[in-house]
Amino acid sequence: MRRRDFTDLAVPGVRGLRPYTPGKPIAELEREYGVSDSIKLASNENPLGASPRALEAIRGELDEVWLYPDANGFELKRALAERHGLSPDCITLGNGSNDVLVFLAQAFLQPGLEAVFSQYCFAVYPIACRMVGASERVVPALPSAGPMPLGHDLRALYQAIGPETRMVFVANPNNPTGTWLDGRRLKDFAASLPPQVICVIDEAYAEYADSDVLGDASTWLEELPNLVVTRTFSKAYGLAGLRVGYALSNPGVADLLNRVRPPFNVNSLALAAARAALEDVEFIERSRAANAGGMEQLREGLAALGLEVLPSAANFLLVDFGRDAAPVNEALMRAGVIVRPVANYGLPNHLRITIGSARQNERLLSALAEILPAQ
Ligand SMILES: *Cc1c(COP(=O)(O)O)cnc(C)c1O
Repeated sequence: MRRRDFTDLAVPGVRGLRPYTPGKPIAELEREYGVSDSIKLASNENPLGASPRALEAIRGELDEVWLYPDANGFELKRALAERHGLSPDCITLGNGSNDVLVFLAQAFLQPGLEAVFSQYCFAVYPIACRMVGASERVVPALPSAGPMPLGHDLRALYQAIGPETRMVFVANPNNPTGTWLDGRRLKDFAASLPPQVICVIDEAYAEYADSDVLGDASTWLEELPNLVVTRTFSKAYGLAGLRVGYALSNPGVADLLNRVRPPFNVNSLALAAARAALEDVEFIERSRAANAGGMEQLREGLAALGLEVLPSAANFLLVDFGRDAAPVNEALMRAGVIVRPVANYGLPNHLRITIGSARQNERLLSALAEILPAQ
């Protein structure tokens, strides 16, 4: 069909939007490059797959897929409430935590209002803000020479709060940098914000991080009514394809988020799988241990190749190639290894690499060992 340009009819926020750039799917790489047996270390998925208990729960639910799911996710919310020691009315379920990030923007932002976030923050924050026509205030990240290179600068974030600011987004640990914030400092930051500012702490990688250092922001909710904590089943829980995430907040905030939430936004297989996955504590333990081992393997291997790697509390590493990383990325794709270019984050010299299984990590390292000297 001949394409017609409708840009002029779009609302201003949408005109300025660029779609989120996802990691390249394996099938797409294989189609485009004519390679096979590829691996994907691009989207921070769990190399152990999903919890076997979650898979079993999905099978048990299959015969019911003709029925609408429980629009309120009663059972999953009850399990989450118990896990976090909160009441179910503090929870908003999302089709991935991406969904709840958008609800937050829809509920609290509009043209004339502003959200604050760090340079090198998760790409969904600016997308959600732009979508609703709000302004964005991007705060410079910490210098690359410091102890937490390219990480969030809490002091600068605080100073950027203005009269129109209604929301601050902080990811702990952060994607794409992997950097983290000390839990006590982050809590003080959240407590210092004016009452009209919602503080969103995105804990997508919390299961991988050391909670003694980063803290668990869901335990601060009682004291900090303006706090919203987001979590996901996409990363350590290994359910990225099912799309389940949630926000924990004061019930007053959850009430507003649930007003903009589309009914049935979490499907019945996802509800059942998430509930089962939550109970599989052993799987999370195994995932953490595998990630710690894989992180060491990759760090050592990358250092041996002379590459700079940022500190990470998550399940990926941000690697500095010291020059344009696009040719390295291209050569890796030809070798059947998908990693994540981050030029769209303003990091053209870096690649973000998910910690894979020992074999996948080895495959990435040997591909790099062949590619780098030739470049
Ligand atoms: C992956 C990720 C998410 C969530 O993704 P969903 O699959 O939508 O739950 C949220 N925040 C950060 C920082 C992430 O890296």
